[in-house]
Amino acid sequence: MAVLTDSDKMAGLQRVRMVKLESMDANKLFDMALGLGSGWTVTKSEMNIESRQLKLWLDFAPGTLFACPKCGEFCAVHDTVEKTWRHMDFWQHTTELIARVPRTDCPEHGVLVAAVPWAREGSGFTLMMEAMVMLLSQQMSVLAVAKHLGEQDTRIWRILRHYVGQAHQEADWSHVREIMVDETSSRKGHRYVTSIVDAKSRDLLLLVEGRESQALEVFCQELVAHGGCPDQIELICMDMSPAFRKGARKAFPKARVVFDRFHIMQMAGKALDEVRKALRRQGIDLQGGLWALRGNEWTRTQEQLALRKALCQEHPKLGRAMMLRELLQDILAGEDIESLKWWCTRARRSRLEPFRKLADSIREHWQGVIAFMETRVTNGLIEAINGLLQLAKRMARGFRSFKNFQTMAYLKTSNLKLNLPPLSPT
Ligand SMILES: [Zn+2]
Repeated sequence: MAVLTDSDKMAGLQRVRMVKLESMDANKLFDMALGLGSGWTVTKSEMNIESRQLKLWLDFAPGTLFACPKCGEFCAVHDTVEKTWRHMDFWQHTTELIARVPRTDCPEHGVLVAAVPWAREGSGFTLMMEAMVMLLSQQMSVLAVAKHLGEQDTRIWRILRHYVGQAHQEADWSHVREIMVDETSSRKGHRYVTSIVDAKSRDLLLLVEGRESQALEVFCQELVAHGGCPDQIELICMDMSPAFRKGARKAFPKARVVFDRFHIMQMAGKALDEVRKALRRQGIDLQGGLWALRGNEWTRTQEQLALRKALCQEHPKLGRAMMLRELLQDILAGEDIESLKWWCTRARRSRLEPFRKLADSIREHWQGVIAFMETRVTNGLIEAINGLLQLAKRMARGFRSFKNFQTMAYLKTSNLKLNLPPLSPT
């Protein structure tokens, strides 16, 4: 008597499955792969091996009723319009779906194009394809995604802008208490871009074209649209520009203003540069001084550091300015408020006009500077965000508009909850 082993049983099962596949026609197979449902079926498929293209025609049974896109009432079909969607490749063939989309005839809303279950209204891609685009865009630049899929980058951007825009719009800001505002010039310094960051979660909330003062106004409106109110902002970190401070006081009267190390050191760097310029105006040759004197020691080359030392020794004014800058750097890295007071006195007596002015500025904004030393709320945050924005710029390589840069920045630094369609049939 023959005994059926497990492997015999497996082979038998496989045979049954193979037969089932063979007896199923190609259209039915595509039906399953697409997971269409709701009355739609694949009625024709055409594969071009040479051009590596696959076309699938979808259709609905005569007499099917469709929901009016306005009220959802099921209505008879008035007529149809042909549309095409790019889908994920089947067997490395560029795949397109083609369907005659019904226009419903609603007694109340008239003739309107009905929704289809596989795509968003107005999109030339299926939902599954859009999910794939979003997945790829988190790993590579938009240009690379476009190249990989054989699509125009403008079509990829449209998908990104939709999903990122939607997630950004839905983001809840009601818990935001501390914000950091920073202004940077974008592309060749012609345009200004201001970022507003949640200082606690370190998420980018808003990226606005324009200067800080305008950005705060926009943020104030957006905050309300995102479930918050201006009164909830307890702390704003920013630079010391007077116009900006005025705007902040007006829009967020309850917020404590903080001036962080980054912005103060930026001012110290400018003061040092003014000392250098004053020497040059007196006809003193400081060849290469601009780059040798600028920035922190650890960002300069050995040659630049040697030149820095030589210039400071040769020109006592430059030496004093450099020393003041470095002392301030050290003091702001610590928490000793007495040494900051001591620094201000010393800077005022330095006979270096730019540093005297800086000391005055610090004294004038004393509460805000002290607030930084006490809370250190934004320590290193600006540098971190600027780094992420640079990454977003690279990922948006070739971006043609601010909107695209903004989209990529939100995708990279806002920690958004993207509401993406499923990658496979459900
Ligand atoms: Zn209707």
